[in-house]
Amino acid sequence: MFYLNTKVMFGKDALQRSVPLLAGLGQRALLVTGKRSASASGALADLEPALTANGIQWHTFDEVSENPDLDTIMAGKERFLSANCDFVIGIGGGSPLDAAKAISMAAANDLKRSQLYSTEEFLRAHPIVAIPTTAGTGSEVTQYSVLNDNKRNIKAGWGHELAFPTLAIIDPRYTFSCSYHVTLNTAVDALSHLLEGLYSQSREPIIYPLIHKGIALIVQNLKTALQEPQNYAAREALALASMYGGMAIAQSSTSLQHSIGYPLTTTFDVPHGLANGIVMPQIMELFWDAAGDLVGDALGSFGYTRAEFLAWLESLNLNVEMTIDEQFIQDKVPEVMASRNMANNPLSVNAEDIAAIYRSLI
Ligand code: NAP
Ligand code: ZN
Repeated sequence: MFYLNTKVMFGKDALQRSVPLLAGLGQRALLVTGKRSASASGALADLEPALTANGIQWHTFDEVSENPDLDTIMAGKERFLSANCDFVIGIGGGSPLDAAKAISMAAANDLKRSQLYSTEEFLRAHPIVAIPTTAGTGSEVTQYSVLNDNKRNIKAGWGHELAFPTLAIIDPRYTFSCSYHVTLNTAVDALSHLLEGLYSQSREPIIYPLIHKGIALIVQNLKTALQEPQNYAAREALALASMYGGMAIAQSSTSLQHSIGYPLTTTFDVPHGLANGIVMPQIMELFWDAAGDLVGDALGSFGYTRAEFLAWLESLNLNVEMTIDEQFIQDKVPEVMASRNMANNPLSVNAEDIAAIYRSLI
């Protein structure tokens, strides 16, 4: 089944073109952001007149840091309620967008901290507007929110139909200000989503043409975006690919590629996309027997072989300093095995497969 419940405005001046779509969403918005990216990207400066034009008031909650945790969501819920807001606008990378979704759910359903993953309690939502300033997560078109349970130190996502943003406003120029490493890591995240759209047991062939296009756009444009951060065509290509990746995982969900990366983020602070990227060749190898034909078709659509793709990936120099040891492996393999996404793997994966991938990073 293919399902996607988000209006998308894409391209230059997407926010200005969205002014009529913002009308009717509510009277008072909670702007959910990190500390810098909403203003550094230029999105906030574009948003304020668009809200004013509609007579919409706003209140800012700028306390979302990378990998948002449950305490932040509860603080956002309180702010939403005390400021009498009636919809949320997430501006930033995946972290503020995911936080905005969770705050909408928490406020609309009066959730306690312990209920933030209890999707059966999610009966209603306040409208959600998503304005991405990175090109990676595709969160602007997914029903997922990935949160860090900071008491248990476990990062995990939930998905609910009500969490599809009502409106996604994607202006690739908002990614001009992304640093070299944010650009690189987020593009690799999008690449993971596109590949997982092929790996997953719940893969959806309707989206394959966009997956093929998305992978090609990243391979053909990432290095230009890294070298020329203000190159609009390259940034547009990455923003499109990221959206296609989101559309893909909205159908197929993620799998081992993401489950194995989360402990690297919670333990060693490895940025999300990079955590996926450093295990991408190993996952491709593990899944090749089950999904190699589909990946081969995708790469072949722009004239690449698997070996050429892996050489390109290698040329990105995805490196990270961390000290994985046997204790980490012993602690984290059961966590990966227990994660929800594991049900989507294209073949059965056992604890030793996961341990072997972690050992390959030592
Ligand atoms: P992020 O955590 O939102 O942001 C990373 C860093 O980039 C932050 O320091 C942020 O600054 C900065 N930044 C963002 N946009 C910028 C811009 N235009 N200019 C300058 N700096 C900018 O990164 P992300 O990779 O986009 O999101 C990762 C999160 O999304 C993870 O928690 C991941 O698990 C989740 N995720 C969600 C989905 C989904 O479907 N919902 C899918 C994949 C991943 P500020 O702190 O100032 O904002
Ligand atoms: Zn991801």
